[in-house]
Amino acid sequence: MVSHLFFYQLMFLGLLWLCVMLHSAWPNECTGGDQRPSKPLPPLRKRSRDLKPFPGLTRKPHCTACEQAAQEPAGLPPPLPPPLITSSRGRPREVDTSQHFCPNSDCDYRGWVGWGNLSANGHPSGGPWRQLYCSQCEGYFLETRGTPLYGKRVSPDRLVWAVGALAEGLGIRAVARVFEVDPNTVLGWLVEVAEHAAAFSQYFLHDVRVTQVQLDELFALLSAVKTGEVSEVQALKRLSRSPHWVWAAMDPESKLLLVIDVGDRTLAMAQRVVHHGAQVLAPDCAPLFLTDGFREYMTALLTHYGVWVQPPRRQAQGPLPKPRWMPLPQLLYAQVVKTVRRRRLIRVRHRGVCGTLEAVQQVLAACGWQINTAFVERLNLSIRQHVAAIGRRVTTLCKGEDGLQQQLALYHVYYNFCLPNASVRLPLPQPEPTHGSGSAKQWRPRTPAMAAGLTDRVWSLREVLLFRVPPWPQPVGV
Ligand SMILES: [Zn+2]
Repeated sequence: MVSHLFFYQLMFLGLLWLCVMLHSAWPNECTGGDQRPSKPLPPLRKRSRDLKPFPGLTRKPHCTACEQAAQEPAGLPPPLPPPLITSSRGRPREVDTSQHFCPNSDCDYRGWVGWGNLSANGHPSGGPWRQLYCSQCEGYFLETRGTPLYGKRVSPDRLVWAVGALAEGLGIRAVARVFEVDPNTVLGWLVEVAEHAAAFSQYFLHDVRVTQVQLDELFALLSAVKTGEVSEVQALKRLSRSPHWVWAAMDPESKLLLVIDVGDRTLAMAQRVVHHGAQVLAPDCAPLFLTDGFREYMTALLTHYGVWVQPPRRQAQGPLPKPRWMPLPQLLYAQVVKTVRRRRLIRVRHRGVCGTLEAVQQVLAACGWQINTAFVERLNLSIRQHVAAIGRRVTTLCKGEDGLQQQLALYHVYYNFCLPNASVRLPLPQPEPTHGSGSAKQWRPRTPAMAAGLTDRVWSLREVLLFRVPPWPQPVGV
């Protein structure tokens, strides 16, 4: 009898342990996994708004991206600029070469934009592109040098339109059909354009000052879930470890997309996104971060926005306590935790993780906002519309892999520089009449890059593709 009783007790304890383990190993609640409760819903637990103070870490979290950056041969600082050339002899130059630089690696004037060393030299053999001449190294080069249009046989219009179709969300195969070329040709264009787009983004996105950053991840299987090919649970299970999460970091005020990346849903990936975000932001800029409830964000943010703190002694004698890696005092971080049950959103909870909720609300109140991640979620919708590999065309997991990274790089530039965003448009001082019978124009369109002060105009995709990205940042106001 005694052994039976003992056995049942043991079994009960075992079951209890299992319940606890299952509960803690359950996927993060923000992803909206199907939790299928068989009993009536238990009353929601009340959680106190004041969390225990963060105790700090005994070692600095490791970031692969930081390590890689440290290992790479430190990017040589740009050489000292050569003297400006101002030629007053002869007639003034008719063709503006102020947006160009000499690409010749032996030339002292290499990489310096608008330094007065270049002049236009006509169109060699009647081609579409102008030749430029450098008076310092006496070299010639085409105005498309270093852009995706350089050395292409395809007509520039066709290439720009095809890339435009890709940026607007048409898949690689669809673009190949429309423009009657091989899909591999389109993929080749996309790869080159993406490289250019990444350099373009890197050139313009630096030292950005923002007060808020919203971070989110979305997975690339929505259409399959929608059509019922896989259940949401299956999708989550398959995707948690698959590299098909699109990560985005944006500034909700200017709508500027700071980082877009693809990978799995892990700490390493969260760190990579925060790492790149920190590189885009000005070094002393520590904005308010808003994320969903994904728990690895905290460590990722702490990796890049942390500092060693020496805790005070508790006793008068003995060794000093070990220093702790703590969030920067000015760092504000809040989570929007959504609880989804039976596919319905039943609760949204706000959690101040670093800094107080009051401090967080104060930053948001300046914009008249509450804590939210709505803007980055709206952005996710736009990404789905513009990136074919994660949009409606995806039916299987592997299909989406085709050029997803490249399409995201293209989208990054297209969204920031080419697409006017209705929520950052500015009213015109006076309505301008339109040519047709339409109502007068009331707004000045603005792109997120304009709202963030990175550029002063809406770029066309052609201008982006023809922009020769200088090898280093140019001095301002020359
Ligand atoms: Zn030169």
